[in-house]
Amino acid sequence: MTERRGLLIILSSPSGAGKSTLARRLREWDPSIAFSVSATTRTPRKGEVNGKDYHFTTTNDFKAQVIEGRMLEHAHVFGNFYGSPIGPVQDAINAGRDVLFDIDWQGAQQIRNSALGAHTLSIFLLPPSIEELHRRLVGRGQDDTATIERRMQKSWDEISHWDGYDFVLVNDDLDATENKLKSIVDATRLRRSQQPGLTDHVRALQAQFEDFS
Ligand code: ADP
Ligand code: 5GP
Repeated sequence: MTERRGLLIILSSPSGAGKSTLARRLREWDPSIAFSVSATTRTPRKGEVNGKDYHFTTTNDFKAQVIEGRMLEHAHVFGNFYGSPIGPVQDAINAGRDVLFDIDWQGAQQIRNSALGAHTLSIFLLPPSIEELHRRLVGRGQDDTATIERRMQKSWDEISHWDGYDFVLVNDDLDATENKLKSIVDATRLRRSQQPGLTDHVRALQAQFEDFS
């Protein structure tokens, strides 16, 4: 009865709203959750580790992976290509592990419309205000002013897709958002579609019921 199917947990938000922070916390809470390491053509930021944060790659290699059908989804974001390699996702799901994606709305839409769509849980994070979003981007200290302005310009485009998601959280207090996120994951793991062992269990109950009466 413990058999379960892995979930594809998608976190999206405008840049700076807290996706990476909450993704990290969710995986600390349950280390069995695999993280989908995206491939990207953008240059690494200080401290980013190839193979852990992203698979940093060339445009030619990225395009080859798309043509060969090795990307579950892919998109062009902030002038660079980003995509989720399908192999590790399938391995994790087959082993009954959930996979967490930190991807934009285009990727979320593609996964929702894929063969794995029924096993997807999508969550959108909103900032409490635009001013606070800007403050967080600056406070993160990872981008220069021009990059921050570009991210701010794109933030409305991302926010405008908030209504395509299963759940929406306003990431005001970080601990409170983390707790809500955990509750959502806990509950979604109990979806009928995630518990393939239920059919056998109900059959066994039926047999017991017939013997009993
Ligand atoms: P994203 O991955 O969505 O671009 P990050 O997780 O990198 O965003 O968060 C951006 C910055 O905001 C980080 O410095 C992070 O520590 C901070 N942050 C995230 N959530 C909150 C919150 N609820 N309150 C205050 N600061 C936050
Ligand atoms: P960053 O460059 O800040 O790491 O990411 C920029 C944006 O690209 C973020 O919104 C992030 O969620 C998105 N992103 C990262 N990886 C992927 C991916 O594999 N696919 C898609 N569609 N978006 C991604």
